[in-house]
Amino acid sequence: MTDTIPFIDLQAQRRRLGNNIDAAISRVLDHGQFIMGPEVAVLERNLAEFVGCKHVISCASGTDALLMALMVKGIGPGDAVFVPTFTFTATAEVISLLGATPVFIDVDEASFNIDPDSLASAIHAANDDTLLTPRGVIAVDMFGMAADYDSIHRIANLHGLWVISDAAQSLGGSRDGQNIGQLAEITCTSFFPAKPLGCYGDGGAIFTNSDHVAEILNSIRAHGKGTDKYDNVRIGINGRLDTLQAAVLIEKLTIFKDELVSRERIAQRYNSLLSQYAGTPSPTNSTTSAWAQYTIKVSDRDNLAAQLKSVGIPTAIYYPRPLHLQTAYSGCPISPSGCAISETLSQIVLSLPMHPYLDEETQDRIVHSVADCLERIQ
Ligand SMILES: *Cc1c(COP(=O)(O)O)cnc(C)c1O
Repeated sequence: MTDTIPFIDLQAQRRRLGNNIDAAISRVLDHGQFIMGPEVAVLERNLAEFVGCKHVISCASGTDALLMALMVKGIGPGDAVFVPTFTFTATAEVISLLGATPVFIDVDEASFNIDPDSLASAIHAANDDTLLTPRGVIAVDMFGMAADYDSIHRIANLHGLWVISDAAQSLGGSRDGQNIGQLAEITCTSFFPAKPLGCYGDGGAIFTNSDHVAEILNSIRAHGKGTDKYDNVRIGINGRLDTLQAAVLIEKLTIFKDELVSRERIAQRYNSLLSQYAGTPSPTNSTTSAWAQYTIKVSDRDNLAAQLKSVGIPTAIYYPRPLHLQTAYSGCPISPSGCAISETLSQIVLSLPMHPYLDEETQDRIVHSVADCLERIQ
């Protein structure tokens, strides 16, 4: 049997950047300011410049970023927040944690993102429900590609709802010339190691242009602190990003743009070689994806995954079960038109190895194996 290909090759990135990262970590070990050390403010400034926004509040994870954003909005029992059902559990979990109700929306088959029609009908249904008060929408940029923020904002504005962006997978992407981080009042991202910009543990950040939102987030991140450290003015959390992770991210951010160019080149090459065999992703002209995942659609998905595994090619299924079909969310409302597209996608999606260091030879091996299997299956 041939070697197994890594699904994400973090070691290749280490070969390029490892010395700088090790030196950055050493500097933190030397100065010893592990909590809110100087690297945290530097990273926030660098990220604000990268995205082109006024404020960046780093935090302990993408999940905390979403939780803190919702805490700014002050949601609680009786409030409805609309989320796609085809997403990672964290997007909805934070709503339930605060006692509010996630309402699940179907997604668009081509983009994997919120279907605006499904959103509109769910808001109408919730408006008719005397037990629920619609408050806002969390849009997710699945696999790295920005959601249809124009349509989502138009619908949300019509009903007086806010929009939060879950950009855990899409930092570095753009839509209509605007970077991810500029497309909603509050944008949340994750630095989980497997995300396009990952650290060496958990981490996250929130982007906003609002001074008011930034000030509240700063307070929430540190237990709801006021100007006097021992006069807490609101209920907050311990949501800080470790200085060590900030130091790692400062180094990784210096090559991130270049890595995004590689991801784009690799995704385009996958597209041109695979589109005759499987459903391939189709970013529109107006979007640039961060390509967190390269995900194809095939009817005999499980068979293909098993055959690829047998020749040393790992794959992943994001996501095998939409949230509305999971035990934890079984009592939550869904869009009145149902979530059939998400249910179908969960049966046919398959993510292939994708990272900036995937060379053409390895990519050809993957493509040939996929083509081989699919020709045999059909
Ligand atoms: C990864 C992810 C999160 C959570 O990020 P963590 O840093 O792991 O807490 C939230 N939403 C989406 C869509 C994600 O992919």
